[in-house]
Amino acid sequence: MSKAIVVFSGGQDSTTCLIQALTQYDEVHCVTFDYGQRHRQEIEIAKELSSKLGAKSHQVLDVGILNDLTVSALTRDIPIEENKDGNAIPNTFVPGRNILFLTLAGIYAYQINADVIITGVCETDFSGYPDCRNEFIKSMQTALMQGMDKQLTISTPLMWLDKAETWALADKYNSLELVRHQTLTCYNGLKGDGCGTCPACILRQRGLDEYLANSTMIQAQLTAKCTK
Ligand code: ZN
Repeated sequence: MSKAIVVFSGGQDSTTCLIQALTQYDEVHCVTFDYGQRHRQEIEIAKELSSKLGAKSHQVLDVGILNDLTVSALTRDIPIEENKDGNAIPNTFVPGRNILFLTLAGIYAYQINADVIITGVCETDFSGYPDCRNEFIKSMQTALMQGMDKQLTISTPLMWLDKAETWALADKYNSLELVRHQTLTCYNGLKGDGCGTCPACILRQRGLDEYLANSTMIQAQLTAKCTK
């Protein structure tokens, strides 16, 4: 029996990953991390969505220690600044976040004998977060396999998709409306189309507009990428 764990935040990307995973694996388990994020409503949304969509289980893991150790606009009441020069790391970066999350997901995978961890990280719409890069994910997969002597794949279905193609993927599974209205991506904690002004909302909306304007072409792009 194939078993997968989805690192699930209740946002557009991980919800799309969950929807796809439910069609690909016999059993899908979700883990959500509580690290004192500003958009805490995402935890409640993740609970609702994982149960509604049919995940076998959903764990919320308390990693508040991450908030004790780090200062980020994602966890503290400081203004969010966009990555202006295209190179610097934005101030919403939480150092070590994905290292910690994937380590904990790996421990859980070992415990329940899952062979795959799915995460919605993406290098294409590169946010400036080094722990979203493919190179990091591959290294993390090697580290987990060596450290636990277990076969494990970290699957990143969105790694090479842009936001419009991620919308196309949701639509492919007839879930565009669900992802649009029931997920939370906004840094200001507003569900659906969000506040419309934070960097996460702008990226999400731009991708949606692009997809809706050219859905046939973008579906074809997605198919070409996924069959490579
Ligand atoms: Zn927003």
